[in-house]
Amino acid sequence: MTSSPATVDRFAVAAALREIGLLLEVKGGNPYRARAYARGAAAVEALAGDLASLVAEDRLTQVPGIGAALAAQIAELHRTGRSSTLERLRAELPPGILDLVQVPNLSVERVAALHRALGVRSVAELKAAAEAGRVRGVKGFGEKTEKKILDGIAALEARGQTLLLHEALAASEALRAWLAASPHVLRVDVAGEARRRTETVEQIQLVAAARDPEAVVEHFLGMPQVAAVVEREGGRGHVRLAEGLHARLEAVAPSEHVPTLVRLTGSSAHYEKLKARAEGESLVLSERALTPRGGRRAVALKDEAALYRRLGLQYVPPELREDEGEVEAAAAGTLPEDLLEESDVRGLVHCHTHYSDGKHSVEEMARGAEALGMEYITITDHSPSAHYAGGLDEDRLKRQWDDIARAQEKVQVRLLRGTESDILADGALDYPDRILEQLDVVIASIHSRHKMDEDEMTRRLVRAMRLPVFKIWGHALGRYVRTRPPIACRVEEILDAAAASRAAIEVNGEPRRLDMEPRWLRKARQRGLRFVISTDAHSVRALQNFRYGVAMARRGWVRRGEVLNTLGADAFRRAVRPVQ
Ligand SMILES: [Zn+2]
Ligand SMILES: [Zn+2]
Repeated sequence: MTSSPATVDRFAVAAALREIGLLLEVKGGNPYRARAYARGAAAVEALAGDLASLVAEDRLTQVPGIGAALAAQIAELHRTGRSSTLERLRAELPPGILDLVQVPNLSVERVAALHRALGVRSVAELKAAAEAGRVRGVKGFGEKTEKKILDGIAALEARGQTLLLHEALAASEALRAWLAASPHVLRVDVAGEARRRTETVEQIQLVAAARDPEAVVEHFLGMPQVAAVVEREGGRGHVRLAEGLHARLEAVAPSEHVPTLVRLTGSSAHYEKLKARAEGESLVLSERALTPRGGRRAVALKDEAALYRRLGLQYVPPELREDEGEVEAAAAGTLPEDLLEESDVRGLVHCHTHYSDGKHSVEEMARGAEALGMEYITITDHSPSAHYAGGLDEDRLKRQWDDIARAQEKVQVRLLRGTESDILADGALDYPDRILEQLDVVIASIHSRHKMDEDEMTRRLVRAMRLPVFKIWGHALGRYVRTRPPIACRVEEILDAAAASRAAIEVNGEPRRLDMEPRWLRKARQRGLRFVISTDAHSVRALQNFRYGVAMARRGWVRRGEVLNTLGADAFRRAVRPVQ
């Protein structure tokens, strides 16, 4: 049997299973049953095989973590997009209950207890109850817990329901695939922040072309991930998903698709500039059409490039549509046309193995790189100072070289040996030069003393840059996208030092880091600096991170020729070799 249009992909199935688990937990039944759903969700997400054939051949129970009862639920979800269990639970429990689970410091057990004792059904109701001092009266809750809950709600309100880029891309792809399966949909695109590849995404925006837009909205509202319909009007739908994320769809007639996609992709400042350009060309760019001034018939547009062309502009890739000078550059014809693309990357840089804090062996990582079609991979585990991360002393480093040599005999992909060396507090690197010089690649990163003051930190980094063996500046500013601010330092001064010593800047693709950020990449470009796109992978799966690195590089206007790992293995090695 092949898949019918109703089939749901494994991520949507996993999301539904996870929601069932949470709702069961809140309801307070058998805790093992609830956990079985969470485990099942993880198993489905991690499936190596194809979900459709596992369902069709009745082989789901062969997957560890999936029993007969769960298999039946998964099959139902996959085949019909619905789950009777989930629908029953949603009917039994108030729709706001899952939002409560998102409050920091509030476990599911506590949500369940508060729901039973006070009848709270949403974050707003919990907030009111806590503010009125009613939470402290519930058995097992005191004044301190009540205060913690209020703090948690404040933190949640401040944060909103933003997703990291990789989560947003996975979620939007699942929604896109769901819509694409509708027989009404002629074309569907992800727009908004996810398409611009911003580091965090507040809501998912989709644009669909259809002859019957309302039927598409109907299909959208019927997705298994939908927890609540926020708004629906004509061709527009707005929903809240089970994880608290918001998603919007605008379905339009096929002839309106291109202008709508342009409007919903760019930042509003970018879009305003386009409208102004249209005026200058005696055109009117309205919500869904580009029309000659005073005319009635819209200009027929084959694709977005055609729209930009009509406005007298070069095509502006989505990642650049931020109003940071791209419209002016596109008008002048100076927008780079050879921005880095995923397919340009030929080697995976910055990969950890189980020698330090990675999950997989050298050989497993190498095979992972090979599976991604790469020509080479650099093995760069931590150096001795990073003892918390299992940093390698000289003996273990040399043992790893033997291991690399053995793995090399079994795989095609070239293995380059390297290290991610700590930049010590005084700006020195961690291994002696005689060791560093035997490596192909040295990435130098800060892992400790993040809180130095600006002067001290700038000195530390400038000193490091001046070392002849300093070739790649790893996760430069040490930020975590949502949780850790960048280190304090005078970035431009350090970039000057990097340019003088011809060190390259890493664009770290680890989705929690994405460092350095695009605005600094542009400053680095102005100085003629070179870049490496890295994975900072600690597992085979995370080798994919290079894609997020490419996205950041594009946001920073980085061109193919500026990226060292677009070179072949030998040329790359020559470009980064740590030599005196
Ligand atoms: Zn690191
Ligand atoms: Zn690392």
